[in-house]
Amino acid sequence: MAYDLKPCPFCGGKATLWDDQTGLLDASCDECGCEIAGTVSAHIDWNTRAETTAYRLLRHIFAENSALRLPEGLADDELDLIKELRG
Ligand SMILES: [Zn+2]
Repeated sequence: MAYDLKPCPFCGGKATLWDDQTGLLDASCDECGCEIAGTVSAHIDWNTRAETTAYRLLRHIFAENSALRLPEGLADDELDLIKELRG
């Protein structure tokens, strides 16, 4: 099932959508394992949850600190999230 999920709001990891074989969907983070399970709209719920306070706070921090120095050794998905946050 292909659906474009936003990165995990907690760790920035890649998220996957699963059909739980009962007609419901689970969306979970491949990295930290957080999930939204057993709903008909897990994909919508996941992408809505990605706009939580933590995500908005990070986006604000990057917007206000364009020269913010990043730690070394970030993974590609982490760099993608930072690029998205910086807009
Ligand atoms: Zn995660």
